[in-house]
This record gives sequence, C-alpha cells and structure tokens, in this order.
Amino acid sequence: ILRRGMTYPIPKRLVRRFAEGVRRLLVLEELDPFLEEEIRLLGIPVTGKEVFPACGELDPAVVREAAIRAGLLPESERLPSVEVPSPPLPGRPPILCPGCPHRAVFHVLRKLKVVVAGDIGCYTLAYLPPQAALHTCSCMGASIGVAHGIAQAGSPQRRVAVIGDSTFLHTGLPGLMNLAYNQARVPVIILDNCTTAMTGHQDHPGTGRTLQGKETVRIDLAAVARSLGIEHVECVDSYDLGAVEQAVRAALSADGPAVVIARRECALLPAVRRTWQPLAVDSERCNGCGLCLQLGCPALVRTGSVVEATGRPRVRIDPLLCTGCEVCSQVCARGAIPRRPAH
Ligand code: SF4
Ligand code: SF4
Repeated sequence: ILRRGMTYPIPKRLVRRFAEGVRRLLVLEELDPFLEEEIRLLGIPVTGKEVFPACGELDPAVVREAAIRAGLLPESERLPSVEVPSPPLPGRPPILCPGCPHRAVFHVLRKLKVVVAGDIGCYTLAYLPPQAALHTCSCMGASIGVAHGIAQAGSPQRRVAVIGDSTFLHTGLPGLMNLAYNQARVPVIILDNCTTAMTGHQDHPGTGRTLQGKETVRIDLAAVARSLGIEHVECVDSYDLGAVEQAVRAALSADGPAVVIARRECALLPAVRRTWQPLAVDSERCNGCGLCLQLGCPALVRTGSVVEATGRPRVRIDPLLCTGCEVCSQVCARGAIPRRPAH
C-alpha cells in the first residue's frame, strides 16, 4: 500500500516505482478520481472508480463490499449484516440561531405581508417555516435587482430587498446604485451583523479590521447609501421590534429608494457570547398561545404542561440556548417573558 497524505503535486517517481512492484494498481480515494486521473496521465494502468464508489464516505464496510463485488476479495470475506435498532429522531430543520439579530426583522416583514427578495447568507434560512418570510434567493447580490425588477414590472405588491452587510459590500452596491439611478421605490434592508457569519465570522470592509486582524478604514454603510443620492437612510437596532417596524413602514412609504440598516452584532461572536443572559417564561402567565414560537427561536420549546383553559402547551426557554436577546419578550402579549431589570 502506498499511502499519500498530500495529493498534489503527485510524487511521480515514487508512484512509478510503486506501480512497477505490483501486479495491479488500484486507487482508493473519496469523491472524484483525482489521483486516479493523474496516475493515468503518467501512462500507468490504474483502476479506481470502476471499483470504489465516487459518492459518500469510504469506510471499511463500503471498501470491503466494493472489493468483493469487483472480485478482489472472496465472497467469504462478506460480513453478516447487523441491524442496530435506533429510536426515531426528531426532525431538526435548519433555523436561525438563538438570539440571531435577523429574527426580529423577518418577524416584522412577515407581519407587514411584503414580498421579500432575499440574498445569500445565514438569513436565507428565514425562507423556512415558521418564519417563511423570504421569497426569492438566487445568487450573491441578486436581492436588490430582483426587488427592483418586481417594481419595474409594475407589480402592485409591496416589496423589499434584504441583504447582509458582507454580501452588500461584496455584490450589493451595483444594484443599489441602479436603484438610486432609476429612483425606484424599493426599500433595501441591510442586515448588518458586523461580520460574515455564515462562513465563520470573517471580517469585511464594514468591520474596520482586515482579514489579518489589523485595524483599517471602516466603510460606513449609511454614508455609502447617501453618497449614491439616496435620501431616505435609517439605522435601527435589530433587537428593537418597534423601531424595526417603524423604520420598515417609513421605508415602504418613501417616495424613492430607501435604505434601512438593521444593526446588531451576530449573537455568536465571542464578545457577544460573554454577554448572554438567558430569560425565563413565567408559566403562571403563559397561556400557550404560541405567538412567540412563530419567531422560530430554537431556545423556545413547548412543555408537557397544558393550560387548562386553552388546552395548549405552555412554552419554556432552554437556558442553555437562550442568549437573552429579548425579542420574544416583545412578542408575548401576556408579558409572560419578562425582560431583564435594566429595562
Ligand atoms: S407568547 Fe407568551 S403567552 Fe404565548 S406561548 Fe409564548 S410565552 Fe406563552
Ligand atoms: S430571548 Fe427569546 S428570542 Fe432571544 S434567544 Fe432567548 S428565547 Fe430566543
């Protein structure tokens, strides 16, 4: 066996020497036949994907079975299959993280029943229930052009474009420029969580740090929008439901292009994690209405305790997941999720 830790560049002399010493050369590699093709290009007869599958993990059972099928191992090598009983697992659909600053914005957009042209980022998850508040998503930076297109097509539906801060700086600017140039009545909501969360919290031109962590110039998103001639530009705290709703309503009634920057740091940034303070549901007050569950926060869970009058299960907060963002407190009409004393 010739085992390779690095696949590229291929050690030609070593491979040739090894091939000369064996009757048949087989390549065992996961996914595409990369090494196999490189070796074939050296003029060495080689077998790989004819025997071993191109998809999935090559664990011992898969390799053994493939080798038996190809006649490389005798049938006697086949192991008896063992059924391992496993309990049914609960469904875990992808969902925005607990304390995600985008949650309140999508709650408002759903309430206002607007068509939301989305973009690429964590917030694309708002497409899924229970929020189900994002209606299109095609490629990086497409949100603004799609919302603009809906407006140009003469659709009477109210529409907004939603785009994250790093995506906006990556490919959103040309769309916004076009919006300003055409004075289109399309609100753009920039979900500014001060990082590139989806790919692992990389810095970007709006954070004031380079990818090497050095201090640098910080691109001011509001100033950029104003510099394009957009007059209606507003910044709000993403956790403030009332302020977000007011800002979105104002942007929807603006006479031309409008930009709302909904800003809050990603709840998973290390500095933010240190400030987490979980909330708790007052079970005496909770009537199980389920309004808070529409937020789709994984920290909010139904309990086994049923409210006698309504027959609905009460809700509790998982203290291991809750960040204490207080968005659910603002949604609960019964005041069953008290905010922290500072309020
Ligand atoms: S919104 Fe309030 S009352 Fe309704 S289920 Fe949630 S915690 Fe209970
Ligand atoms: S405060 Fe409410 S919405 Fe925020 S993380 Fe905790 S349970 Fe979720």
